[in-house]
Amino acid sequence: MTFEEIKQTADTYLMPTYAHFPVALDRGENATYFDVDGKPYIDFTAGIGVNVFGANDEGWKAAVTAQLNKLQHTSNLYYNETVARAAKLLCERSGFSKVLLCNSGAEANECAIKLARKASFDRFGEGRSTIISLQNSFHGRTIATITATGQAHYHEYFMPFLQGFRYAQAGDMALLKELAADKTVCAVLVEVIQGEGGVIALDPGYLRAVRRFCTENDLLLMADEVQTGIGRTGSLFAFQNAGIMPDVVTCAKGIGGGLPMGACLCTEALGGTLTAGTHGTTFGGNPVACAGAAEILNRIDDAFLRAVREKGAYIRDKVAGFTGVKDVHGAGLMLGVDLAEKKAADVAARCCEKGLLILTAKAALRMLPPLTITYDEIDRGLAVLAEVLAE
Ligand SMILES: *Cc1c(COP(=O)(O)O)cnc(C)c1O
Repeated sequence: MTFEEIKQTADTYLMPTYAHFPVALDRGENATYFDVDGKPYIDFTAGIGVNVFGANDEGWKAAVTAQLNKLQHTSNLYYNETVARAAKLLCERSGFSKVLLCNSGAEANECAIKLARKASFDRFGEGRSTIISLQNSFHGRTIATITATGQAHYHEYFMPFLQGFRYAQAGDMALLKELAADKTVCAVLVEVIQGEGGVIALDPGYLRAVRRFCTENDLLLMADEVQTGIGRTGSLFAFQNAGIMPDVVTCAKGIGGGLPMGACLCTEALGGTLTAGTHGTTFGGNPVACAGAAEILNRIDDAFLRAVREKGAYIRDKVAGFTGVKDVHGAGLMLGVDLAEKKAADVAARCCEKGLLILTAKAALRMLPPLTITYDEIDRGLAVLAEVLAE
């Protein structure tokens, strides 16, 4: 099909939940993609933080196809070696004891919410079911996770929303204490760096204070690392940079390297909370996705993470000097750019025309390139961005 035919067919049959850029991507090599007409694009999006090893990675493809050639799906009624290995790796690499495997970030957060409520029920009985999340957060698109999302525009149309959610403000410990004062709260859910909210890092001091408060009041601290996890910020998980250990961590986006996968990790003490019959998913822990995840976790070592930090610092330095850039923030290869005058959405659209795929988050430009992006690809992408900002 030509681009016009693809666009017309997609616009005819897909629900219009996304405003597509006018490009039909066809294939890629690492962080260089090609559209159906063969035009190249530098990719600063990784499919929204998903393709951690870029496109067409030989090791990832070999791992995934080896599993595909054996068995594509088993259901969770049977054991499978690839799934067991991926679960072990995820726990060992994160420092947690047990994991529930699922298919997306929203589902991983659903699991965390259920786990928090049941863990509290098991210990304290009824009456402690409230989850505190943060204003300006994003936790997914299901009814529970849009309720957890602390942004007003997600709380339109789909009422009634779930009961038992309250919203604290990053940095404001007094408000958090006030929200928890009636003893109905069981958990606090945070993004270590708010992704969709504009790439806004929580202050490490605040995170440590929240950790202390949760411990003192028997609340679970749950980190939504769906966007920040799996090497994105230059450590395997962003909580490690902040020097805290949550009770529950969720991840998704990057974990499958491009196949749908999510995970909810928890401590030993919480590991027995969700028992047979209390939670489940047909596709969760799919062996093909798990084969990809194992390959990714095996290759993200200290040297790989150091390279992520170095590339991130390189991009930050360059972009900080570009025309019309007010601030560059974030960590590793999760970067937000605040612009003085230009609208981020306009800049992203113009970059796309000129061969750079780049994201926005609220008013900021957002970069989530493949972690394997080369310096040559970075330079080519930044050249487009500099040109567009100078126009
Ligand atoms: C993307 C995202 C989600 C939702 O993940 P899906 O896979 O789209 O369901 C949840 N939390 C955060 C922090 C995210 O960035």
